[in-house]
Amino acid sequence: MSNTTFEEIGQVLRGNQCFAILSHVRPDGDALGSQLALALSLQQLGKDVRIWNEDGMLEKYSFLPRAELLTKPPSTAIDVDVAVALDTAIQNRLGTTLAAVGSAKIWINIDHHRSNPGYGDLVIIDSSAPATGEIIFRLIKSQDLPFNHDIAENLFAAISTDTGSFQYPKTSARTFEIAAELVRVGGLDVGQISQQLYENYPRRRLELLRDLLRTMRFGEDGRVASFSLSLKTAAALAVLPEDNEGLIDHLRAIRGVIVAVFFEELADGKVRVSMRSKDEAVDVCAICQKFGGGGHTLAAGARIRGSLAEVEEKVLEEIGEVLKRDS
Ligand code: AMP
Ligand code: MN
Ligand code: MN
Repeated sequence: MSNTTFEEIGQVLRGNQCFAILSHVRPDGDALGSQLALALSLQQLGKDVRIWNEDGMLEKYSFLPRAELLTKPPSTAIDVDVAVALDTAIQNRLGTTLAAVGSAKIWINIDHHRSNPGYGDLVIIDSSAPATGEIIFRLIKSQDLPFNHDIAENLFAAISTDTGSFQYPKTSARTFEIAAELVRVGGLDVGQISQQLYENYPRRRLELLRDLLRTMRFGEDGRVASFSLSLKTAAALAVLPEDNEGLIDHLRAIRGVIVAVFFEELADGKVRVSMRSKDEAVDVCAICQKFGGGGHTLAAGARIRGSLAEVEEKVLEEIGEVLKRDS
């Protein structure tokens, strides 16, 4: 599978009228910000654009400009000219939005996950990009697509969140150059956006962290750290799924920890596993792929059938083997 060009995607965007812009279930800032940014640019071109996510707009990202345009998909399918999947490593992670697209002449797949198999007709997978938002910025710039303050703010939020505030290893000079251009040309207030992103959590998120820390475990001589969230605790604290985004970073931040894991019991008999690595030699994407998931070398996930205890045991054992072999 080889990547298409921005030119070809630009032609398809300009040459069609009706679009559906989609991203993955349990969206993050990169997914939602990239969706809104591309959709707003297309709207400025006079296109009809639907912006769907299985989970709809999350409370924590509802400050994003034009956030109200992003909705849950309709229950009856709608035909479009072009469907665009953003930031979505496997097509089935589009969730219910996939069925909401009736027929589409062309499917576009733009992503930065290495594990993306390249589904769709026109594909750009750039695993060197720290965020899908960075690819959308380059698409907009190179094809001279509409750009304004609202698009800039959505892209800044996408890039800021997926780089851990410009900290993760894929953050490059180009990332800072793009961020600088977003701030300068878009006229962004970085302090204000960052406050909305990182200093505006509901109190229950910290209450959740307190409970997670009580379950914290270490293995492999302190090189693996994990914690877990049961359905019971989630119900008792009335947490929303989005509340736990980023909490795994507390484990990753511990000296000596190479792999951090977060286990979350789901209502469908599966466990959502989030994994982070601090060492390129320990590829958590490969570990998650063994369990049917995917992601990036240093940040990956999977949904695995079984009880919390069963999945914890299986996954921690696999990580232990990889650590013994690869580090
Ligand atoms: P998370 O731990 O949910 O923040 O996800 C870390 C990275 O792995 C993100 O880039 C996700 O898109 C990707 N990822 C998470 N879960 C899955 C999954 N079940 N299948 C494929 N990729 C995933
Ligand atoms: Mn994402
Ligand atoms: Mn992303």
